[in-house]
Amino acid sequence: METELDGELTGEVVVVGGGVIGLTTAVVLAERGRRVRLWTREPVERTTSVVAGGLWWPYRIEPVALAQAWALRSLDVYEELAARPEETGVRMSEGVLGETTPDEVGAWASARLPGLRAATAGEYAGVGLWARLPLVDMSAHLPWLRRRLVAAGGTVEDRAVSDLAEADAPVVVNCTGLGARDLVPDPSVRPVRGQLVVVENPGIHDWLVSADAGSGETTYFLPQPGRLLLGGTAEEDAWSTEPDPAVAEAIVRRCAALRPEIAGARVLAHRVGLRPARDAVRLERAVLPDGRRLVHNYGHGGAGVTVAWGCAEEAARLAS
Ligand SMILES: Cc1cc2nc3c(=O)[nH]c(=O)nc-3n(C[C@H](O)[C@H](O)[C@H](O)COP(=O)(O)OP(=O)(O)OC[C@H]3O[C@@H](n4cnc5c(N)ncnc54)[C@H](O)[C@@H]3O)c2cc1C
Repeated sequence: METELDGELTGEVVVVGGGVIGLTTAVVLAERGRRVRLWTREPVERTTSVVAGGLWWPYRIEPVALAQAWALRSLDVYEELAARPEETGVRMSEGVLGETTPDEVGAWASARLPGLRAATAGEYAGVGLWARLPLVDMSAHLPWLRRRLVAAGGTVEDRAVSDLAEADAPVVVNCTGLGARDLVPDPSVRPVRGQLVVVENPGIHDWLVSADAGSGETTYFLPQPGRLLLGGTAEEDAWSTEPDPAVAEAIVRRCAALRPEIAGARVLAHRVGLRPARDAVRLERAVLPDGRRLVHNYGHGGAGVTVAWGCAEEAARLAS
């Protein structure tokens, strides 16, 4: 007979949400011996996560100190995964964070990323920080996470949930991102719209993120296998997932100002994603009306990829 303790440790968990947060959380739980069923309303190709540029760096995420700790844990994992880039979609990649100095980064990152240094004038026309960071090809990484989940005994079902209590398991983990706004409901989760242009890579190997102090706009390009991602935008409370041609044109223009060869690059696709922003990530235990355990793991803003593994491990701890 299964004791209550066994039930807690080996019992079933339903993870709601199949973006990077839900999949990573489900993998951690399944590999710790839980029987995991993941329910997702959208297929991976329609999540915010697949749109992400995939650069490891805490951006638009609160609370900062916790996000840094989750990011560092995720860095450990991504460094390991980068040994098998074809399989995992994770690569260590060099580039420059513009308008950032090594001093500004703080001890949290410099201790862990010893290669950080000021960018040379040849690398960036301005103050910049050179770094070698994980860059995740989400179109490869998400399917790989799904395969890893299935290999650990988990299942994935296309299924929309209108009430978290529908999930028939002793423990339910809510990783619904922006979906938590209606589902929990939690009106403090709000969209921060991001648009990208995908172009043929005109021969760029390093990534660049540049912030314009005047306009507050961030411009970046990130080389991914077979393509170059150009960004970006961050429009608060904007819900449209339709690419705006004028915004796309401005993104290409801003990127080409940094690297002229981008101007003539053939456009392959336009992408829009709604970042699930919140004043603070919600990563905590709660209870369903019938007393079952609920763990929330949502609201990762512009850094869900960056913190995914740290948050997944914390969610798994809260689930046990
Ligand atoms: C343009 C852009 C660039 C970005 N670049 C980066 C980057 O470089 N680095 C980085 O770290 N982050 C980046 N981000 C942020 C990152 O994409 C998000 O933080 C992350 O994808 C959030 O993951 P998630 O799993 O919480 O949400 P999502 O990917 O949105 O997944 C939510 C899941 O929940 C499911 N769901 C929702 N409601 C329900 C329901 N009622 N029932 C069942 N299922 C439901 C959805 O179907 C989906 O599967 C970027 C975002 C954008 C838009």
